Amino acid sequence: MLEDKNPQKTSLAELGEFGLINHITQYFKVENASTIKAVGDDAAVLEASEKQTLVTTDLLIEGVHFDLSYMPLKHLGYKAVMANLSDVYAMNGVAEQITVSIAVSNRFSLEAIEELYAGIQLACSTYKVDLIGGDTTSSTKGMLISITAIGKANKADVVYRNGAKETDLIVVSGDLGAAYLGLQVLEREKQVFKVNPNNQPDLDNYTYLIERQLKPEARKDVPLILKELGVKPTAMIDISDGLSSELFHICTQSKVGCKIYEEKLPLDPQVISACEEFELDSTMVALSGGEDYELLFTVPITDFEKIKGNPNFSIVGHITAQNQGLNLVTRANQEIELKAQGWNALKGK
Ligand SMILES: [Mg+2]
Repeated sequence: MLEDKNPQKTSLAELGEFGLINHITQYFKVENASTIKAVGDDAAVLEASEKQTLVTTDLLIEGVHFDLSYMPLKHLGYKAVMANLSDVYAMNGVAEQITVSIAVSNRFSLEAIEELYAGIQLACSTYKVDLIGGDTTSSTKGMLISITAIGKANKADVVYRNGAKETDLIVVSGDLGAAYLGLQVLEREKQVFKVNPNNQPDLDNYTYLIERQLKPEARKDVPLILKELGVKPTAMIDISDGLSSELFHICTQSKVGCKIYEEKLPLDPQVISACEEFELDSTMVALSGGEDYELLFTVPITDFEKIKGNPNFSIVGHITAQNQGLNLVTRANQEIELKAQGWNALKGK
């Protein structure tokens, strides 16, 4: 359904490595004054600054982290950059540079690599980030992508995972669970396509879900909105593995417990209807779904008025003493212990 039908294929060997690098980096522009030299020398050169430097890396492997049968290469490139930028924003910083290294088997043509880099370039230009280096090499099987993002923040602005305090409010940006359901829809269509390749899927009811899976956006705006509101989170993390597991990271590192409320979890209407259709519990999906790339943070209770009613944010609970553990209060006002992968009532599902 989503595979490339373009018959034009140029083998990578025809260009050679330097030809390939020149070819795929020609459309990248330098956006940041801190980038003195990007691609084209032995090393990139960055201007040092008074600020602190944030560095984060991800390694993505075909068949483990992505499936090219429904993930177009352009989207893969975009999403791989988003996953890294999201980590910089989760430190309350500004992302300025990335390096991208890929290994590909001879199954991939030049045109395929161009598609991948078109997505990377779109991400760079949209988020004002410079591609400053990387490597391309061959793999015996499939594709590997490693991206490193470099960002900056004032020392006083950096937010760690370990600063949450008892009574702090727990806040999430955007909504949760849509990326996971987008994956369920795409997996289902992949199975249908296997049986009947002529089937034209009707995906109109799932547009938001599929977009959240295939073209997520990192929350560059959240650190800026918080600054405008005069709010500095006490702890922050991005939601890449699901709300539950991110809460575990914050609570473990901050040595606190938490209580979150089922009725407060932000869900898009498409999430609710798709959960009914797939017979999934929307709360489990919100807690364990992953890949939403929203931000989860805690703020002092004195900031309640500043956060309350802001359309970007939902207050989902509060921090408690460590000995209280991590708990979910259900709509029926029952308290259930949170597990790193969702809550125990859903185990084995
Ligand atoms: Mg992260």
